[in-house]
Amino acid sequence: MMNKRKIKGKIIIISSPSGGGKTSICKRLLNRNKDWQFSISVTTRKKRRGEKNGREYWFVDHADFLKKRECGEFAEWCKVHSFLYGTPKKPMESVLYKGGVMLLDVDVKGAMKLKKIYKEAATTIFILPPGRTELKQRLKKRGTEDDKHFKIRQSRALSEMKLFGQFEYTVINKDLKTAVSEVEMIIKSLHCRKNNLDLEQINRIVG
Ligand code: 5GP
Repeated sequence: MMNKRKIKGKIIIISSPSGGGKTSICKRLLNRNKDWQFSISVTTRKKRRGEKNGREYWFVDHADFLKKRECGEFAEWCKVHSFLYGTPKKPMESVLYKGGVMLLDVDVKGAMKLKKIYKEAATTIFILPPGRTELKQRLKKRGTEDDKHFKIRQSRALSEMKLFGQFEYTVINKDLKTAVSEVEMIIKSLHCRKNNLDLEQINRIVG
């Protein structure tokens, strides 16, 4: 378990149903904030067109994933759409100790597990599409899967939307630019939250 007094960094856990837009939001946030980092998960799913090993994910086979899991390399892991995904522990804890911001793009269950482990060091943000119809359209447009997988993803996405209440913040992604600046504002104002205050500085002010 981490030593609470030494934690200086923040982990920002961003979840949404597929098609909610969390990947685009994370990409833009990272472009605008060069000192923020992205947690690159390990997965057994196949690389999609345009993806690069070590950028979106670390792509491994099933046996490798199990080995890593056994060695305790993951802060959490889960099965999504019959593939395994795991959040590497080391890079995240290094950001937390050194200070800094790390974004994580994980599913709802992963988000809850990480919040339970990292408590105040972690902030959970849920991204909602503007409506069910838009969500279906976005998923269709993506067209990365065959019909069977598409249906599974769609029904999972529709039911996941109902889980927004488990998150500390919810942002509606009607317009990408607005959603990005809302998430950015949440992150940039976290240092004002009671639990995150720099008490030495505050005490110098209040005397
Ligand atoms: P995709 O295969 O479309 O990139 O991701 C499928 C789902 O897995 C997304 O909801 C994504 O947020 C989630 N995911 C990606 N990496 C992890 C991880 O390390 N842990 C968990 N719990 N979910 C993950």
